[in-house]
Amino acid sequence: SGQGSGYDLSFKIVLVGDASVGKSSLLVSFISSSVENPPPTIGMDLKIKLLTVGGKRLKLTIWDTAGMEIHRTITESYYRDAQGIVLVYDVTRRETFTSLSQFWAKEVEQYSTNKDCVKMLVGNKVDRESQRAVSREEGMSLAKELGSLFLESSAKTRENVDKCFEDLALKIMEIP
Ligand code: GDP
Repeated sequence: SGQGSGYDLSFKIVLVGDASVGKSSLLVSFISSSVENPPPTIGMDLKIKLLTVGGKRLKLTIWDTAGMEIHRTITESYYRDAQGIVLVYDVTRRETFTSLSQFWAKEVEQYSTNKDCVKMLVGNKVDRESQRAVSREEGMSLAKELGSLFLESSAKTRENVDKCFEDLALKIMEIP
């Protein structure tokens, strides 16, 4: 247990989705609580955030694909023992939404070893409303299909950034 090390529970959360949908930006925004452009990185990247949700002190270890999604070379070790998976698309690029249902959801099914894994579908970049190519209703419908939670976010304005990770953590804590 994390007693004495500053937290009650520890969860592994992974981010998936096409390149440039804003995965790193969401993570950096959540971790640093500031808006900035993260430099592109190569190889797996993980960040740790301590926070209190539902009266519990949590340690979230959040893994970012950091470019591996470009060649779709993410495999088992990335998903192994993850309690939460954030599936991200860009609401202004329809192909990133399609590839979640056509590719990423299947990867998650194949590689995720944890049967109780909680999924959160996130439609990012809602600040670019005039360029929207995927409706909120379509997002909700896919979430229902995947059995996942759903939110639309903006890493730029920080809309729903904290909520994304907090709601996911709350749902993970509901698992007996
Ligand atoms: P990743 O490849 O999925 O990790 O995507 P990045 O986090 O590197 O973001 C790709 C690009 O989209 C960068 O230029 C970001 O600044 C931009 N971006 C990320 N999130 C948002 C957002 O919510 N709104 C807008 N307008 N741009 C964003």
